[in-house]
Amino acid sequence: MTEYRGKSVFEGIAVGKLKIVRHDNAVAVHEQGTPEEERKKFYAAREKAVSELQSLYEQALATVGESEAEIFSMHAMMTEDADLEDAVLAKIDAGEGAAQAAEEAGFELSQTFIRMDDEYMRARAVDVIDVAKRLSGYILGKKEEEILLNEPSILASSDFTPSEVVKLDKSKVLGFVTTFGSETSHTSILARTLALPSVVNIRDSIDMPFDGKTCIVDGFTGKVIVDPDEETLSLYLKKKAETDAARERRQALIGQKSVTQDGREVHIYCNVGNSEDVKAALQNDGEGVGLLRSEFLYLESEDYPSEEKQYQEYSRAAKLLEGKLLVIRTMDIGADKQASYFHLPHEENPALGMRSVRICMDRPEILYTQLRAIYRASADGNVAAMVPMIISGAEVRWVRQMAEKVRADLKKEGIPFDEKMQIGIMIETPAAALIADELAKEADFFSIGSNDLIQYTLAADRQNQSLEKFVDPHHKAVLRLIRYAAECAHAEGKWIGVCGELARDLSLTEFFAACGIDELSVSPPYVLPLREKLLSVNVSKTDLDKYTK
Ligand code: PEP
Ligand code: MG
Repeated sequence: MTEYRGKSVFEGIAVGKLKIVRHDNAVAVHEQGTPEEERKKFYAAREKAVSELQSLYEQALATVGESEAEIFSMHAMMTEDADLEDAVLAKIDAGEGAAQAAEEAGFELSQTFIRMDDEYMRARAVDVIDVAKRLSGYILGKKEEEILLNEPSILASSDFTPSEVVKLDKSKVLGFVTTFGSETSHTSILARTLALPSVVNIRDSIDMPFDGKTCIVDGFTGKVIVDPDEETLSLYLKKKAETDAARERRQALIGQKSVTQDGREVHIYCNVGNSEDVKAALQNDGEGVGLLRSEFLYLESEDYPSEEKQYQEYSRAAKLLEGKLLVIRTMDIGADKQASYFHLPHEENPALGMRSVRICMDRPEILYTQLRAIYRASADGNVAAMVPMIISGAEVRWVRQMAEKVRADLKKEGIPFDEKMQIGIMIETPAAALIADELAKEADFFSIGSNDLIQYTLAADRQNQSLEKFVDPHHKAVLRLIRYAAECAHAEGKWIGVCGELARDLSLTEFFAACGIDELSVSPPYVLPLREKLLSVNVSKTDLDKYTK
């Protein structure tokens, strides 16, 4: 029995046969012609690769949806990238064969990505390799090997390329394990979309002799166990049966209200990264979207996304929700979410630095453009804006003034929008929580960003995994701040939600409901477990002091 540990990207238990997928890293060697002939081979391969990517895009669109499919348009762009082309041609001119040149150029470019600060960009290294492999495959006349699955399996590899993932027979995949990779990799995104228990970044490779052995993926703890002993296997099979039965049982809760035993209703919304995720929110019976992290649009772009691009994205989400509330969080770039075109200066302490609304106050045109897009989308559904990282009433007033200017401009231009669109704020700094009485007069609603509220209250960098053992998310300092913010919101007749990870912590559901939290926003798969929990609590019997004193 061998154990590995990594990052869980979807909670659940998978038990099945392990299939190890190895990538052939041998450099391509082939019969070589003159540089002129090699150049021709490169260009012919490039044309075929782009056309194959177009059909992969269509295949992905039909099977897993637009956001997963987009990766193939990106790959087509990368295939035709001028830097890659120059590097390949230089290698051909230096005497290399076209296939070797393509692979080497791809590898070198991937190293540039690996060294980038931005986590999203680092994760793109595997895409460059994928692109280069496809090119060399065409030059060599090799067909890309598909991962063939004869039976349901848990797939393990260093990482999976997006084209491998999209071609998989999804009905035979039980889960993924990767040596590298991040939570933003396409394997992770797919795992969450398909609700597959998966663990990435185990930082170790699973040895080939383990191929075909029984494997357990514990997506609750990030543990992967290969060749378990009988006792462990039967323990996990029991756990899996319980998890499956609970999931089945919860289907009956679809369409029901989330009301405590003594009649207090708490709305359950979803956190999403883009408009495509809204479909998962609706499938899981989310009553709305409590947090659309708009910065993902910025992170995926090479330059500031235009008003039109943003509008299209927000409007699509609003329309999919058909009148259910869509809370669009204004961009939260900075700290761990860096986009290179912002050219933010290097900071010793980025989590305590230039981030979100602070950047906007320095560069107001960013917020102006975003608010125009959000207001325009408000004509297409039930939309609200929410501003992160607030620490003062002055910031909220500044945002409101900007919103007033946007409304006046849109009116002048004859563009429709919802005059009454709510503007809420995130309570994710201790400062905001402690002046919640003042802020409740300025904002239309609050949403607790517990991820940051915990990091700032407990002075513990949320990115630093070695601090985990020192960080107690139930620390009474954190819970007192939440309780106080809820009191202040209600004293001004405003509603309050929680959209950080704490919202799905079932051991706090009773606390939240008893505090009067009106809305909990969680990743789509957590809606029904949370509803089940809410139905079982009784707030009139809850002793809040037990949590905060
Ligand atoms: C939070 O801080 O809890 C939050 C929801 O925002 P993010 O995790 O995106 O910082
Ligand atoms: Mg936050």
